[in-house]
Amino acid sequence: AQVAEWKAEGLTIGLTPTMGALHEGHMSLMERAVKECDRVVTSVFVNPIQFGPNEDYDNYPRDLEHDAAIAESKGVNVVFHPEPEEMYPKNYNTYVVMETLTDTLCGAKRPGHFRGVCTVVNKLFNIVQPDKAFFGQKDAQQLAIIMRMVKDLNFDIEIVGCPIIREADGLAKSSRNTYLSEDERQAALVLSRSLKIGKQLVEDGEKSAKAIKDAITAEINKEPLARIDYVDVVDFETITPVDEIKGTTLVAIAVYIGKTRLIDNFIA
Ligand code: AMP
Repeated sequence: AQVAEWKAEGLTIGLTPTMGALHEGHMSLMERAVKECDRVVTSVFVNPIQFGPNEDYDNYPRDLEHDAAIAESKGVNVVFHPEPEEMYPKNYNTYVVMETLTDTLCGAKRPGHFRGVCTVVNKLFNIVQPDKAFFGQKDAQQLAIIMRMVKDLNFDIEIVGCPIIREADGLAKSSRNTYLSEDERQAALVLSRSLKIGKQLVEDGEKSAKAIKDAITAEINKEPLARIDYVDVVDFETITPVDEIKGTTLVAIAVYIGKTRLIDNFIA
C-alpha cells in the first residue's frame, strides 16, 4: 500500500536489501539510496533458503531494534522485516536458478546459496518495485549475478554497485565479524593484506592470474588460524575463471578464520 501511494505521487523508490545486523557497509548503501531516490526501503531479512544445512542460519546475528534505529538515522523511510513464514508460506514452490555465474567461487562452495539469493531478491523486487536497488561490491559474485538476472528477466530496475567499506585496519565490514575472537579478529587481517599484495602486483603490470593467486595464497598460508576456501581470478561479468587480467577482472577470496568464513575481493 505504501509503495502504491509513493508511485501514485510519482516518487522514485530505492531498495537496499540486507540481512540486518547493520554496520557501516550497509549504511553506505542507505546513504547512496537516500541521495539518489525520493523514498528508500531497507529490507532486513535473514533469508533461510540461502543458507546451507551446516551454515550459520540459526546463529546469524539479529537485532531489529538496532537496525531500525540505524535505518531511521540514515533517512530510510521503511524497514521491511517479513517473517520467514510470510516469505515462504506452506506449499511455497517457486525458485529462481541462475546457471554458469553460480558455478564458481561462493556458488561452488555453497550449493543452493545463489538460488536462495536470486529467489529472495526477485520477491523483494516484486514487493518493493524499486527504481534502483543498491548492492555492495563486498559480495561481488552476488552483484554480478543480480546484474545478470535483471537483464535476463527484464526487470526495469537499475542495479547500483557500491564500494567495499572497511575497518580502519583493512578488514572488510561484515555482520559475521562479530563471530571472531580477539585472536581471530587479528588473524582476519590476512584477507585484506593478501589482496593488497595481489592488487600491487596488478598495478605493477602483472597479468598472470596464476602469479596473482600464488602470491595471495602464500600470504594467507602464513597465518596459522586461516584456512583457504578459495582464491580465484574471474571475469567480473561472467564470473568464469581467466588466465590473464584483462577487462574487468574480479580477484576474490574466501577464507575460514577458525570456524568463521569471510570473503573479500578487489576488481582489477
Ligand atoms: P548482507 O546483510 O550481508 O546480506 O549484506 C547486504 C548488502 O550490504 C549486500 O549488498 C552487501 O554486499 C552489502 N555489504 C555488506 N558488507 C559491506 C561492506 N563492507 N561494504 C559495502 N557493502 C557491504
